Amino acid sequence: MREKTFLNIITYGPLVFIPLFVATIIFVAYQTYTKNFDEKITKLEETIYNDEKKRIENKVINITDFIVYEKSKINDKLTKKVKERVDTAYLIATNIYNENKDKKSEKELKKIIQDALRPFVWNDGESFIWIVDYDGVFHLAPQYLKNLEGSSIFNFQDSTGRLVIQEEIALCKEKNGGFIWDTFTKPTDATKQYKQVAYVKPFGHFDWYFGSGEYLDTATEITDKELFSMVEQIDDIGTNYIFIIDTDKNMLVNRQMPNLVGKDINITDPLLKGTLELLLKQASIEDKSFFTYDWYNKKTNQVEPKISFIQKVPKTNWIIGSGFFLSEIDKKFLQKKTNLENYKDTRSNTLIYIAISIIILSLLFSLFISRTIKKSFTKYKIILNHKNEELEELNHFLEKRVKERTLELEKIKNDFETLATTDSLTNLNNRYSLMNLFEIELSRAKRYSSPLSILMYDIDYFKHTNDTFGHDAGDKVLIELSQLIKHNLRDMDIIGRYGGEEFLILLPNTSLNDAKNFAERLRHDVENHNFSIVDTITISIGVVEYQTDETLDDIFKRVDELLYTSKENGRNKVSF
Ligand code: GH3
Ligand code: MG
Ligand code: MG
Repeated sequence: MREKTFLNIITYGPLVFIPLFVATIIFVAYQTYTKNFDEKITKLEETIYNDEKKRIENKVINITDFIVYEKSKINDKLTKKVKERVDTAYLIATNIYNENKDKKSEKELKKIIQDALRPFVWNDGESFIWIVDYDGVFHLAPQYLKNLEGSSIFNFQDSTGRLVIQEEIALCKEKNGGFIWDTFTKPTDATKQYKQVAYVKPFGHFDWYFGSGEYLDTATEITDKELFSMVEQIDDIGTNYIFIIDTDKNMLVNRQMPNLVGKDINITDPLLKGTLELLLKQASIEDKSFFTYDWYNKKTNQVEPKISFIQKVPKTNWIIGSGFFLSEIDKKFLQKKTNLENYKDTRSNTLIYIAISIIILSLLFSLFISRTIKKSFTKYKIILNHKNEELEELNHFLEKRVKERTLELEKIKNDFETLATTDSLTNLNNRYSLMNLFEIELSRAKRYSSPLSILMYDIDYFKHTNDTFGHDAGDKVLIELSQLIKHNLRDMDIIGRYGGEEFLILLPNTSLNDAKNFAERLRHDVENHNFSIVDTITISIGVVEYQTDETLDDIFKRVDELLYTSKENGRNKVSF
């Protein structure tokens, strides 16, 4: 019963344990997986919101950095531009001079150069090439100052009182030209001084210098326009459009609402006005921050809550911003959630299929394992049983063989014993055995001082019997006589064949007198026995009783002598 239980456990154990183990692992893994998934979905809205916030924040910061960088280059661009203009004018004048110097007078040459450079004007006549000589005479003046051409402007002062022409002459004389920041009137407004950068360069062939300038506000305006258009181009995404507004409440960039651009928001509708005022207020407190407000959503045609990241652009009065409608986040969230859930469902189904397959596989595997175990076990058991049977058989066989051998040996031993101690003809003790027994009886008689009597008898005229009836008949007589005498003995008495037809009888615990009587009875019985072939035989007997300290030899000698006495006295006698 215990073996059967054990076999059941090791056979069906894997079948239960392996699939159970696999199923548990899969179940735990699946739970963890779906739990993670649900957590992800729960956090999704927040994640999307934060991601989107981070995205607009980065976008605004990047564009701000870009604007700051571009604006930092305005002065470089400006100086480069004016220098290029002057260098070009210088080259043209030099060419004209070299080509015509031998053919024309100085006056004619000067006129040709003046006329060649007069058309070089930029920004609607705001910038131009001027020629002044070292005495301050204006040789090439712009259209709006044409009346000054030919007269000296040596003592010309800008609005701050600087003698700018004299500064330019000094720059040319001392440093062979260079840049100078000054202020000057504009063709559109000759009453005001505008900051400009000028580049002057001496001509060399006459005591002239060339100059050209550019107004900073004009250059800035141009750069700003370029920047605005670049910013607009960077951003072409519907809801996350970038807007720039200045602190004077002018809308500078807004692709989504182009009708607002360039306008003072004070003239637009109250919602926009209020919102932008709040925005400006927040921007005045924090350089960059998130700003939550309601705004027109072009896509839905509704006013919706929106969040923007706004940042003040350093060294300007601009505020740049970009944001998203919260409804967009909801949309994105719903879309992503649906996607994730679909993905989860698909994945879950796949996982379930895989799990079922793995469990089935593990079931098959454990079936295989358990069958293998059972097979091996059964095979092993059969082998074991077989071996057991073989062993039992062998054992049985060996036992049988041992028994047989023992019996054989016992028989051989008995045979040997019999052979060694028994006379083969008469079956009485042989001489060797007789002597051994005699010694034992003698020592016993000595030890216990018990009487021991000895009889020796010999068949009378046996030679004659042999001669008359044959040797075989003599043997039969010996056998018959031995049986006859043995029949008269007690259990404790010992008889043996001493040699030929001479025999010895030991009578333990028997006195001489009893032995003598016993001998007489023997002699009488033999005499009266009817032997089968020879009819009658007689025996002569000598009888002695052992006497203290007598040796075996002494006894033999005495009894032998008494037997001889019986023969001497006529045979068929007992002597003692
Ligand atoms: P007595 O003793 O009367 O003087 O005369 P006896 O003829 O018996 O003389 P003795 O004892 O000297 O002779 C013994 C004879 O016994 C000699 C032998 O032939 C015979 N004999 C001895 N052993 C055997 C035997 O085993 N078988 C037969 N058939 N005869 C034996
Ligand atoms: Mg004899
Ligand atoms: Mg004899």
